[in-house]
Amino acid sequence: MVGQVISSRGIGMTSQRTRDRMIARLREKGITDEAVLAAMREVPRHLFVEEAISSRAYEDTALPIGFEQTISQPYVVARMIETLRAGEKLGKVLEVGTGCGYQAAVLAALSREVYSMERIAALLEKARTNLRPMRLANLRLTYGDGAKGLPEAAPFDAIILAAAAPGIPKALLEQLAPGGRLVAPVGNNEQELVLVENRKEGFVETRMDAVRFVPLRGGKQ
Ligand code: SAH
Repeated sequence: MVGQVISSRGIGMTSQRTRDRMIARLREKGITDEAVLAAMREVPRHLFVEEAISSRAYEDTALPIGFEQTISQPYVVARMIETLRAGEKLGKVLEVGTGCGYQAAVLAALSREVYSMERIAALLEKARTNLRPMRLANLRLTYGDGAKGLPEAAPFDAIILAAAAPGIPKALLEQLAPGGRLVAPVGNNEQELVLVENRKEGFVETRMDAVRFVPLRGGKQ
């Protein structure tokens, strides 16, 4: 059609309807937090993966983002953030493992302030590029080893790990505010989501779904 510009990224498998179907599937799988569903309905997941696989962006599956890393499965993103929120608006949040920046964008829509850390410099650059058009003024990206947390911005009301470790790094527990909540995949090959609440009586752990995440690694790359 003369004069009409159709971006391959704006039609077909990446349309709002496709995103709505993803939200319907999340509901079927048991996600009930309307704020989480609304945020995930808004954030364009297809813009966070390579164009060659963007037609698969709204399938409920993890996808490769380079550097042996993956963008998390939508259900797992929803489940973790729903668990962190427990029905309330999030305050100051730390995300460990920015990856392509997708989950950081969803968190930013639901939180007062988000700090997200990534140890692979090239991935952090990719995330910056992906996130720039969204102009999220309450999101700060930091290059560094997230297992050490971000003492200069601590304490955090919520901490979320996008990579699995055999145990939750002590530094992160120390940076969790009183009443704060942390969600992380814990384990080596067999992993499960764990919720840690920082209560008056101490840290209280609850085990949740079986999951599969890339490993939390030390140092920077
Ligand atoms: N949050 C992403 C998921 C990225 S996968 C999403 O929205 O889909 C997990 C990421 O954690 C990878 O990019 C990996 O490089 C990063 N990672 C692993 N160990 C880390 C560490 N110690 N500090 C910061 N990032 C880490």
